[in-house]
Amino acid sequence: MDQVESRSNLRERRSNVDSTETEEESGVLKGLISDTISSKAERLGQEVKKGYELVKFQALPEHLRDNEFIYKHYRANWPLREALGSIFSIHNETLNIWTHLLGFFLFMGLTIYTAMKMPSVGEIPGMMQRMSSFQWNSVTSDELTNLVAPEPQKPISRWPFFVFLSGAMFCLLSSSICHLLLCHSQRVANLLLKLDYIGIAYLIAASFYPPVYYTFMCNPTLRNTYLIGITCLGLLTVAVSLLPMFQTHQFRPFRAILFASMGISGIVPCIHKLLLHWGEPAAQTTFYLELTMGGLYGLGAVIYATRVPERWKPGHFDIAGHSHQLFHILVVAGALTHYRAGLLYLKWRDAQGCEGM
Ligand SMILES: [Zn+2]
Repeated sequence: MDQVESRSNLRERRSNVDSTETEEESGVLKGLISDTISSKAERLGQEVKKGYELVKFQALPEHLRDNEFIYKHYRANWPLREALGSIFSIHNETLNIWTHLLGFFLFMGLTIYTAMKMPSVGEIPGMMQRMSSFQWNSVTSDELTNLVAPEPQKPISRWPFFVFLSGAMFCLLSSSICHLLLCHSQRVANLLLKLDYIGIAYLIAASFYPPVYYTFMCNPTLRNTYLIGITCLGLLTVAVSLLPMFQTHQFRPFRAILFASMGISGIVPCIHKLLLHWGEPAAQTTFYLELTMGGLYGLGAVIYATRVPERWKPGHFDIAGHSHQLFHILVVAGALTHYRAGLLYLKWRDAQGCEGM
């Protein structure tokens, strides 16, 4: 009996000891878990806090170190939601985003307006009487509604003009998205930069369509040769811009030269136009507009490549006035000049058509 009792006491003591040990262990474990959770939360809190903060150039990851003359106000590794929301906050990309986003809305408006106001191909013969006074050197919004010829030989196509407008819209929107979300991660940045370069190549190639199509409209072989040529050049530029090394900082001057030479090749059809249509007022006016456009794009490319003015006063143009913003504004101005030239081409060809075709 005593033995039985002592055994049961022993078991009881052991169980008490066990339960005390388990309580202690669980207490320690709970402490450890709560410590881990709180330190994790603390770390997470710091990360989230860091994510919302604008940082200096030195704190940037390698892939975002593009312009050492811009010192502060960078976003780096921001979550997608925060990056999207930063469209309405001030940082060193705010004006890069908005200069092209407003440009996109402007061209979207122009496309809708042009499509609504421009007479369709089938309407042209019936609207001949409305072409009473005709000024080659100016196109007002009222005149746009009267883009018809006194005696059109053949209705002309509108699609080349819309190819240009689509190129302008694509370029401006993709650039704007690129600047907005570039700060998210390296993977997203690489993807968006490719999209941005494709947009530039698309705009340049699309800009050739109205002048080439309407200048050589009456010579389909010449017209198609030029159009196929610039389309192939555009595709080649896109292929090169998809190479990973093309996005590196070392390739900045090469990028500028490649896009600039694509644009400069437009001199060939431009001179050809003057030789074929010398004395034609529309050919001369569009030539001056193309010269202006070339000047605006060229100046933009030089500013982009040289990083003026921030190079002269580093840190002074972080928020406003740095080279990329100026480049964006010049691109929109160049595209607007080209839009105006496009309207003149339409007027010219609606008025003349192709005799004998
Ligand atoms: Zn840009």
